[in-house]
Amino acid sequence: MTRVAIVTGGTRGIGEAISLALKEQGRTVVANYAGNDTKAKEFADRHGIAVMKWDVGDHEACIEGCKQIAADFGDVDIVVNNAGITRDGTLHKMTFDDWNDVMRVNLGGCFNMAKACFPGMRERGWGRIVNIGSINGQAGQYGQVNYAAAKSGIHGFTKALAQEGAKFGVTVNAIAPGYIDTDMVAAVPDTVLEKIVAKIPVGRLGHAEEIARGVAFLTSEDGGFVTGSTMSINGGQHMY
Ligand code: NDP
Repeated sequence: MTRVAIVTGGTRGIGEAISLALKEQGRTVVANYAGNDTKAKEFADRHGIAVMKWDVGDHEACIEGCKQIAADFGDVDIVVNNAGITRDGTLHKMTFDDWNDVMRVNLGGCFNMAKACFPGMRERGWGRIVNIGSINGQAGQYGQVNYAAAKSGIHGFTKALAQEGAKFGVTVNAIAPGYIDTDMVAAVPDTVLEKIVAKIPVGRLGHAEEIARGVAFLTSEDGGFVTGSTMSINGGQHMY
């Protein structure tokens, strides 16, 4: 049986690697994205993976997007909540919009996608949800009260929903990546990045594929006894 998987923000960065890993695992993958049509088209043409544009912070758009995917491809059994944004700044400079945008997309997106797909998984007795959190949600980060709060919220959301899904065959887990070499990290100034890399025990940034392998395990049949966990994939930067 080919299971249908949705990867939010699945057309570039970590999400692209996740989409490819799930496809390689035999899943029918649909990659959602927000607005970068050029990259999404390139991704779809190159990998033969369907793409669909909507804002994961928009509740109705998530419900409609997931309904459409179920109609076109079949019931959605796997959701990877990967879409995320940053709007960094110290608190005294951060605007309410910076706060709200990050909460809306990063944490609100997880709620919206779960509302769209969790009930069906529960009814069918099988499902896998993986939420991409962050080391900065575990440890905090200067200039990121919005992002750290949203990612920390994702870790709590994961544990709560895992308890609701457990007896219905639905596992819910999080991955907390450390610093991974994607566009998001390319936006960090070089001088700041040098200091960050110096604090990573393995001495380098992570690769998107290293996160994708964690997702592939958590969404596999073999991952059925793992739920409510947060898998830290961070080169040893934060151990707990
Ligand atoms: P990128 O910025 O490289 O890619 C982000 C992806 O999310 C894009 O596909 C983008 O779509 C999509 N996206 C953004 N906003 C929305 C939205 N509102 N609705 C739907 N899709 C959206 O990010 P990364 O690959 O670096 O990060 C992926 C995840 O991993 C994020 O949740 C991030 O917070 C987390 N993370 C990343 C780390 C890192 O070091 N890179 C470290 C820890 C966590 P589009 O292409 O259309 O813009």
